[in-house]
Amino acid sequence: MIYPQLHFRGQVWRPPYKASSQLLQVTSGCTWHKCKFCSLYHGTPFRVSPLSEIEADLKVIRQWQPRARRVYLTGANPFALSYNKLMHVAILLRKYLPNLVSFGMFARVTDIAPKTVEELKNLRHMKLDSINIGIETAHDETLERMNKGYQAKDILEQLSKLDKARIRYNVFYLNGLGGKGNGLESAIATADILNQLHPCIINIVSLTIFPESELYHEVLDGTYEEEPEIERLIEMRTLIERLNIKVNILGHHISNTVPITGALPDDKVALLREFDKAIAEFPEVELKAYRNRIWHL
Ligand code: SF4
Repeated sequence: MIYPQLHFRGQVWRPPYKASSQLLQVTSGCTWHKCKFCSLYHGTPFRVSPLSEIEADLKVIRQWQPRARRVYLTGANPFALSYNKLMHVAILLRKYLPNLVSFGMFARVTDIAPKTVEELKNLRHMKLDSINIGIETAHDETLERMNKGYQAKDILEQLSKLDKARIRYNVFYLNGLGGKGNGLESAIATADILNQLHPCIINIVSLTIFPESELYHEVLDGTYEEEPEIERLIEMRTLIERLNIKVNILGHHISNTVPITGALPDDKVALLREFDKAIAEFPEVELKAYRNRIWHL
């Protein structure tokens, strides 16, 4: 028997908490492809899947997962698609998956800008219930140095629109991104912005530089100095200490030398204690050796 195949191309990533969602490709690669530290979609040019291809995949999914309740749209930032195109996708999802409860995807901060709050509410009505956004930091100097293409004020403005439209969102914080000596500023600036928003989850990932990234070459030529591991722990501790919102913290990614998870504010004291213990006990050299052994995210 020949099994039908879905049209996946390039790298396919999804957050760990989307493990039970059906994946559906609507884009591949990233529209931006310029963040200095990024190697996630290396070698994959941005492409929008034609509606015919999306519909063909949905026919296969209907055959094999007819009761699919959650769908995750793949690609680095499918939310870059226009409002009209996303509505088309939402209509197709509704047509082929009658039990659908929700769908979600990754987005860049800048993908939200062209959409009005009214349009976002319409997408919410069509079951778009969560977006995952790699804000990385709200420290303007670092955002600019890393070529993220937006500033802290854009994070605040655009994610506030998601709050108004009642679309849940989870953010990714990239610990260590500021480089040596900038950890505290990054944590403080980010906590200040996030305290004005309502993210559901803050995912914490620690910067690990791979040869495919532009930043790797800056490390080699000495123009970028990596943040030491203990400074990273102090940075994470500061971020958590300064947050005064109700939010889940997911920091058990392989890149974190001290894996943590918890819900704020209830677990704040316990989380801070874990960091204090690690900072006091772990030698820098051991933590660095751990990072050097990570060959893939
Ligand atoms: S970090 Fe995200 S937005 Fe930046 S290049 Fe990588 S995938 Fe694209």
